[in-house]
Amino acid sequence: MVRQDIKIYPDPVLKKNSEEVKKVDDNTLALIKDMLEIMKEAGGIGLAAPQLGISKRIIVLSLKEKSFDRLALIDPVIEFFSKETVFMEEGCLSLPEINAKVERSLKVIVKGITRSGRLVEINAENLLARVLQHEIDHLNGVLFIDRLGSQEKKGVENDLEALYKRYSALTH
Ligand SMILES: [Zn+2]
Repeated sequence: MVRQDIKIYPDPVLKKNSEEVKKVDDNTLALIKDMLEIMKEAGGIGLAAPQLGISKRIIVLSLKEKSFDRLALIDPVIEFFSKETVFMEEGCLSLPEINAKVERSLKVIVKGITRSGRLVEINAENLLARVLQHEIDHLNGVLFIDRLGSQEKKGVENDLEALYKRYSALTH
């Protein structure tokens, strides 16, 4: 089976601002199905459409908690960020083998549309809040490496350079 590849840093599509979907049609549902499959195959807990080169505001996640297993959100918006923040190690399918501690809000409230076209509001904390913030960042062209402090940023410099070289070799 030919699979759409996950776009790897520094692919420029990862820096783009994605467009609102607004209408949940068959194309949207087919894309979500692909996203869920690709995420599962890659062993990720979250994936955003831009990571497949599609600049649409769609994210999927898969957490152990039942209601957030294979959850898709269309046009998600973060309505509230808690002032309280936490540092936690993050990775990203578009930044293979890179991990770093990222500071994010402990809690967020996210509004979005489900596959069935229902508007939902999610009160999230801890890991769920983190995955939502990470994936919604992708829709705005933001990667977790853009949120690192200078110390953490130094720690990933060489790995980013290696990805950059690999990408240049593939595209030239
Ligand atoms: Zn990511």
